[in-house]
Amino acid sequence: MNTLTLARNLLEAALRLAAPEKRITALTVNVGQLLDVGEDDLRSAWEQLTAGTRAEGARLDVRYVPAEFSCMICRRLFKSEREDPACPYCGSLGAKIEHGEECLLQSIELEDGTCPP
Ligand SMILES: [Zn+2]
Repeated sequence: MNTLTLARNLLEAALRLAAPEKRITALTVNVGQLLDVGEDDLRSAWEQLTAGTRAEGARLDVRYVPAEFSCMICRRLFKSEREDPACPYCGSLGAKIEHGEECLLQSIELEDGTCPP
């Protein structure tokens, strides 16, 4: 997924959550480390996309979620910076990705200070 697509998904999700007459002032976003999305790139894509929308000028708080895997053999969970790591407990390859590929809108804030669920 490229950065622009990601920013567009976030914007759509935020607009769906916000009441139609309200402006969006801030968003918190969880971005998985494995997506390899740079914060600056995401911000510039965001500014570009939100121009003229109800989310124009909204503050974007980006939180990176560390990649977490579960071993298919010994079933233990472990974190790694690599995309296809070996299990640190039993050494087997082919661990399943549990976290680190998601891009989730964690919360949004509207102009009147409310935060829709
Ligand atoms: Zn293992």
